[in-house]
Amino acid sequence: MTLKANLENTTIQYFDSPRIESYTQLIEALDYVPQKSQRELLYCKSCWQAIATEKDIIQVNNSHDHNVCNPDGLWFHIGCFRLALGCHLVGKPSQHHTWFPSFNWQHSLCSYCHNHLGWYFEAPNQDHFFALILDKISEDDD
Ligand SMILES: [Zn+2]
Repeated sequence: MTLKANLENTTIQYFDSPRIESYTQLIEALDYVPQKSQRELLYCKSCWQAIATEKDIIQVNNSHDHNVCNPDGLWFHIGCFRLALGCHLVGKPSQHHTWFPSFNWQHSLCSYCHNHLGWYFEAPNQDHFFALILDKISEDDD
């Protein structure tokens, strides 16, 4: 789905799933969840830090993934996540060329290797989500 024709309203569909509330919990989950559940984690492809869980996957404007284009003409295939606890944010929130009207964005980097993984979007009403570049994260498909 392309957001070229910027939609007037951004709607976020949250799925009813348990949330990991802190990065510490994510690390604990990494250490203690059974092997099967570990496969539900999504990793930074550069350093294999856990970034999010499959339970964090959400839909924004009726789709989890979107193809978006930045002002430099670069295309990204992004996926939307409620949380991405393995990321940290850099930069001040900006509306500049935002892909989701009324949402400000910040860069979202892997908190371990600092690779750019995507963006964090937050609206004045405090709706928020991560949009991560799907090529840069991976399931643990051993
Ligand atoms: Zn990383």
